[in-house]
Amino acid sequence: MTEKLFGGIEGGGTKFNCAIGSGPGHIMTEARIETTMPDETLRHVVGFFTPYLSQLQGVGLGSFGPFDVDPASPTYGYITTTPKPGWANTNILGSLCEGLGVPISVDMDVAAAGLGESRWGASRGLRHSLYLTIGTGIGGGTIIDGKPLHGLVSPEMGHIRIPHDREADPFSGACPYHRDCFEGLASGPAIQARFGRPAEALGGDHPFWDMEAGYVAHALVNYIFILAPEIIILGGGVMQNEFLFNKVRKQVQVLLNSYLIHDLLLKNIDRYIVPPFLGNRAGVLGGMALAMDAFG
Ligand code: ADP
Ligand code: ZN
Repeated sequence: MTEKLFGGIEGGGTKFNCAIGSGPGHIMTEARIETTMPDETLRHVVGFFTPYLSQLQGVGLGSFGPFDVDPASPTYGYITTTPKPGWANTNILGSLCEGLGVPISVDMDVAAAGLGESRWGASRGLRHSLYLTIGTGIGGGTIIDGKPLHGLVSPEMGHIRIPHDREADPFSGACPYHRDCFEGLASGPAIQARFGRPAEALGGDHPFWDMEAGYVAHALVNYIFILAPEIIILGGGVMQNEFLFNKVRKQVQVLLNSYLIHDLLLKNIDRYIVPPFLGNRAGVLGGMALAMDAFG
């Protein structure tokens, strides 16, 4: 039997993860390509897929953003306003279509990761889930009935406002657009800007982690009140710190203050706020799921 093959791409500010297969148990080959300048990076991505083009039904790309995912827009498939040097106004979809010549489906990186988790991971079997990454940036993907939620543009859940007590945390914020939005306070680069060393070098007993968990908890409580997802999956580099999960769960419960009545919030919050089941493959598998949904 010849299996149908799909390509998945997770396009990030640090690396482009690429894979070919048809799900987590069926990855034929995969690669990590450093994100340098757009031309060079996309040339390497095309080079990875080229030997397999005749076998591919299609490719799915989950990209960092802001990324235009509106098929009716003249800049569909472009990275638009990113502060990442060289990448603003990059027509990623156009370059990949030209280089690969196979159908390509696109969405935001977090929407793809959320889709991957809902197909094969932590949110499998649930109708309504939220995937949040806390890494170089902060972003969220909401999956409802197997489809990422879109509106006028892609949601940008990392840029919401959360309380910022400037006496306790005098840091003015790292977001070039809004300074002390959630991402500006709690992303990896925001932590690095505060302490002059990367978040992973802070050490597990650093007092800042309670503050970080508080910021994440404030954001989650807003998402819970507005969207009421059935599960919240927290990925990204900063959440590699496993001890953060319990801190976040406790602070979410404190902030909810037993207002919402559900076992998952009151008693089993360890099953409500969880790490990605697919680990660091959530994004690339989500890309594959996008392709399978569009061209499978
Ligand atoms: P990206 O967001 O670029 O796809 P990541 O999700 O890996 O990549 O996030 C990278 C950010 O996460 C960096 O700011 C880094 O300092 C931070 N980070 C990576 N590992 C850890 C860790 N173990 N603890 C805390 N922060 C981390
Ligand atoms: Zn912002």
